[in-house]
Amino acid sequence: MTGTAGVTAVVEFDSVSKTYPGGVAAVRDVSLRIGRGELVAIVGPSGSGKSSMLNLMGSLDHPSTGRVLVDGHDVASLSDREVSALRATRIGFVFQQFHLSVGVCVLDTVADGLLYAGVPIRRRRARAAAALARVGLSHRVHHLPHQLSGGERQRVAVARAVVGGPSVLLADEPTGNLDSVSGTTVLTLLRELNAAGTTVVVITHDRDIAAGLPRRIEMRDGRLVTDTAGPAGPAQSTVAQRTVAQSTVTR
Ligand code: ADP
Ligand code: MG
Repeated sequence: MTGTAGVTAVVEFDSVSKTYPGGVAAVRDVSLRIGRGELVAIVGPSGSGKSSMLNLMGSLDHPSTGRVLVDGHDVASLSDREVSALRATRIGFVFQQFHLSVGVCVLDTVADGLLYAGVPIRRRRARAAAALARVGLSHRVHHLPHQLSGGERQRVAVARAVVGGPSVLLADEPTGNLDSVSGTTVLTLLRELNAAGTTVVVITHDRDIAAGLPRRIEMRDGRLVTDTAGPAGPAQSTVAQRTVAQSTVTR
């Protein structure tokens, strides 16, 4: 869907609420826009609705009320097959703990991220190798899960999440199970991917990490209580919107 100046947000929430069966209101009336190329941290206490928000952004779940748009597509208006395709091609997930399959090498673990994108096996492996190079694991492509450190496993998870060239990378406390050095490495990696153009949304408990990121969204009791981009939405696409507005004016 388009914003005021015609720039499509990667993720847009329009008065989104999520109440789980049993009555827990995990997300309450949240509106936001995340523009292309942004790096956004979601912070807040445990149980404040962060993971619920990310699952909604990634179309893993449907809102109870309100609308969720991914790349301008209203998720609720899509068929199950279309939602699966959207997830496979436009959304990359990284979770706190990545369960690698025993006996599957790093290269194939990442290549499997393209299984549902209809890419032939040779091409899958070539793209996996490129993604592993991006996360600094070219020397580990033929290793097995038990031969990797926790930080390396999480970098494999990031490679798998970005191998399809998603519109947005969603990471739910990706450093939660790592020591601080490995955690910093994973965060640095997310920043590098962002600098190269990937839109990134990362949930983090770490205040220092969050403080260093350009946009912070703070959740409390299911409500969005702070958005450093302000109520108007994304900081960076504001620049894009201005550019569009100016070029319209000068024409
Ligand atoms: P956070 O990630 O900030 O810790 P969550 O989004 O996981 O918060 O949870 C928000 C609230 O929703 C919590 O009260 C949690 O217990 C509840 N919740 C989360 N997932 C479910 C679910 N699948 N079913 C019922 N309640 C849930
Ligand atoms: Mg959570």
